[in-house]
Amino acid sequence: CGIVAYIGHRQASDVIIKGLKRLEYRGYDSAGIALMNGDLNIYKKQGKVSELEKHLEGENLSSTIGIGHTRWATHGEPNDVNAHPHFSESGNLAIIHNGIIENYSSLKEELTNKGYTFKSETDSEVFINFIEDIYKNSKDVSLEEAVRLALTKVVGAYAIVIMSKDNPEQLIAARKGSPLVIGVGKDEFFLASDATPIVEYTNEVIYVNDYEIALIKDGKVSVRDTKDVKMTPYIQKVDLEL
Ligand code: GLU
Repeated sequence: CGIVAYIGHRQASDVIIKGLKRLEYRGYDSAGIALMNGDLNIYKKQGKVSELEKHLEGENLSSTIGIGHTRWATHGEPNDVNAHPHFSESGNLAIIHNGIIENYSSLKEELTNKGYTFKSETDSEVFINFIEDIYKNSKDVSLEEAVRLALTKVVGAYAIVIMSKDNPEQLIAARKGSPLVIGVGKDEFFLASDATPIVEYTNEVIYVNDYEIALIKDGKVSVRDTKDVKMTPYIQKVDLEL
């Protein structure tokens, strides 16, 4: 399973598809991508990344922001619907998630009682709706803050990246237990499960720590932890042979 996301000036789908192929060694059963091409759109398929590539043929791939995922199913069988990314109920948010949300069934029950419906059987779709619920129902709360508040209540392991129609020029990422690396380029940023999808573009990386949330916006990365303490991201040089 793996995560690749991009924000910058390149065609995001290019960087993401190539990156997901580099992460294939981690194992997976489906692959998907979300792009901002006029609207926030999701394309996903059970099977190999090459199936996803075929599925993308003829689509508008001009987006310079995107999130991509290879899934190793833990909740819900491997199929197109359970593949990531997942939309929130309103369609405003899209998430990719590696890991397991252990308290997803109580969260799902809570959300179902509030009228939320779910298309997939995944814990990840519960996760994004939990974030959406906080975002929609708290006054003056940014999406980043809503993610932070959600993470204080979520039990389990995750590396996530979130895209939002409301905020089409930002990515929000967080991790606990599952790996996540940010590649820092010139006015462009790469996110991935390990550095292999990143090193052909830049050798400057930030290893996101557990309980950290990164906001990538306006050509900058800002990091805070789930207790809302601002962190100073440590940029490291990697030297990886591909
Ligand atoms: N638990 C999530 C699912 O089953 C994510 C699995 C993964 O790490 O790929 O969809």
